[in-house]
Amino acid sequence: MSLLVFGHKNPDTDSICSAISLTYLKNKLGIEAKACALGKPQKEALFALNYFGVDAPEIIDSASGKDVILVDHNEKIQTIDDIDSANLLEIIDHHKVDITTDVPINIRVMPVGCTCTIVYTLFKENNIEIPKHIAGLLLSAILSDTLLFKSPTTTELDKKACEELEKIANVNKEEYAMEMFKAGTSLDGYSIEEIVNMDFKEFNMGGKNVGIGQVFTLDIDSILSKKDEFLSFINSTNHDILVLAITDIIKEGSYLLYKADDSIISSAFDVNANQGVFASGVVSRKKQLVPNLTEIIK
Ligand code: MN
Ligand code: MN
Repeated sequence: MSLLVFGHKNPDTDSICSAISLTYLKNKLGIEAKACALGKPQKEALFALNYFGVDAPEIIDSASGKDVILVDHNEKIQTIDDIDSANLLEIIDHHKVDITTDVPINIRVMPVGCTCTIVYTLFKENNIEIPKHIAGLLLSAILSDTLLFKSPTTTELDKKACEELEKIANVNKEEYAMEMFKAGTSLDGYSIEEIVNMDFKEFNMGGKNVGIGQVFTLDIDSILSKKDEFLSFINSTNHDILVLAITDIIKEGSYLLYKADDSIISSAFDVNANQGVFASGVVSRKKQLVPNLTEIIK
């Protein structure tokens, strides 16, 4: 097989799903092609593959001498190391274009929320029916890249594609997206200490040693069900103040677990402080957690 289709390094759900879907379309059009990946699919993509019963693409580290199609990227720094010794035929992408080529190639770049929206469009243009498993993968990637249409990159075309795809895939897109995001951001397998320290920074605020940890997950329930264990670890640390923000990007806010006087948390985040309180709108450590706490503590 000499035509390889692959997305960027450190592949996200779009890179995996657009490679598989575009390969399916090429095959239907009589072109032999093989979907590949430049790394292991992450939890979210694995959930989608598993849900729709599709095998993960083969991981490759060389494309030397092969014909290649790039999906979901076009910059050399993001692609396979030996791209210069491959024969680049085509690019399907939704990012800014930053590549020069020696010969003309096919390029389809559209300012939409996801490469899979472009692949969907290609199915339509070529009059090829989208089977259930491919619809599921296309839908998964669009919901992932647009964060269930919350991302400012979302376009009407992304939404329109999902409307049809969710019917073919036979899922409710809101429910499916939440399941997929939960699986993708699950902190299962990490210890309490690892979660608190996952993205942890220390600050000196008015002479006090303040630690702020932040994790992004939609699997909030599994964290808050271990609230007491988190608190006993947090209280055992030698920080004067410690705040762990468990950030929910869909609800756009953070649940707070803390070692601090309730009054500090109440004033800093305009909430009625209690362990696990939801601070609406608080999603950034740099722009919100740190300045808000600094102002009150000083
Ligand atoms: Mn991507
Ligand atoms: Mn993408």
